[in-house]
Amino acid sequence: MSIYFSPAFRDLVPYVPGEQPRDRAYLKLNTNESPFPPSQKAREAAALAAERLMLYPDPECTETRERIAALYGIRKENVVCTNGSDEALNFAFMAFCGPGTPAVFADITYGFYRVFADLYRLPFREVPLREDFSIDPADYADAGGTVFIANPNAPTGLYLTPDRIRAILEANPEHVVVVDEAYIDFGGTSAVPLIREYKNLLVVQTFSKSRSMAGARLGFAAGDEALIRDLQTLRYSTNPYNVNAMTLAAGAGALEDEAYTRSNCRTIMENRAFLTEALEKLGFAVLDSMTNFVFAKHPEIGGEELYLALKARGILVRHFQKERISAYNRITVGTRADMETLVQTLGEILGQHRRRNG
Ligand SMILES: *Cc1c(COP(=O)(O)O)cnc(C)c1O
Repeated sequence: MSIYFSPAFRDLVPYVPGEQPRDRAYLKLNTNESPFPPSQKAREAAALAAERLMLYPDPECTETRERIAALYGIRKENVVCTNGSDEALNFAFMAFCGPGTPAVFADITYGFYRVFADLYRLPFREVPLREDFSIDPADYADAGGTVFIANPNAPTGLYLTPDRIRAILEANPEHVVVVDEAYIDFGGTSAVPLIREYKNLLVVQTFSKSRSMAGARLGFAAGDEALIRDLQTLRYSTNPYNVNAMTLAAGAGALEDEAYTRSNCRTIMENRAFLTEALEKLGFAVLDSMTNFVFAKHPEIGGEELYLALKARGILVRHFQKERISAYNRITVGTRADMETLVQTLGEILGQHRRRNG
């Protein structure tokens, strides 16, 4: 830290992204990326946009917003485009939390919520997940602040049906409820259509996972026009060109190819079922996932030990030190071949572990 760093940030603990090591080739199952390339339409649109990179991008993100709006039967005024959904979350923390309005989120959820709360020195309250890691909407009745719910949740993979999201919205009419739907395309039903009914609902989504565009950084928030105008005010006050021209074009291209997205998501869901069954056969306890990852633990081997054993064999998964979940690993669902490699390697690790421990 330099002597010039603002005292306001000296204690800040930044978000730690999943490791991206370069020391050897790994089977990467640690950051929930898609194993499939982006749509051909996305790539062609980005290549065309590259020819016009001397120009600023459209600050209104018109075409991409119109396509997102059309997908959900809402209007472009209900949508704001962001540099990844992390930026949409960033704006939401800035816009809707403050003194007297804490951020309210689960004790086990996306780690960035806590980082944003610290960054803006916001009061926050963590609501413990139930013993089985589920979210009980009753725990969010009169939350007394802005609610952030990842649905499905990360890293558990557990999902709340729209009627449960409704219950949380109705129990908090005085506060914004932000629903982070990074994984909604892997079997869930989006809450976006509910924005017509609930003025306090903000839904955040990303192109990083189901649309294979993690490297492009495209996300969006959907909500009532007034909420979106608030976010636009912050966007124009920080960077009106937050989403670059190639990414905007790629996003619009991807939305012309929804059949491709849906087919990839179906494949991931099939591979998830295959992986879950294979893990259970090996003795793992696996949470019921509605995402492109599974969260699993084994009764005989610790979470960190398993993570290290896999890494030594060239497979990366995500382990969290946090006490409540330290027995688990979060494993991204990849291709069927990736999953077969993983299952075979896990079998070898468990075999060795058993021989060593008698
Ligand atoms: C991946 C993820 C995000 C962020 O995605 P971006 O790449 O920034 O769009 C947000 N929330 C959750 C729960 C995620 O898993």
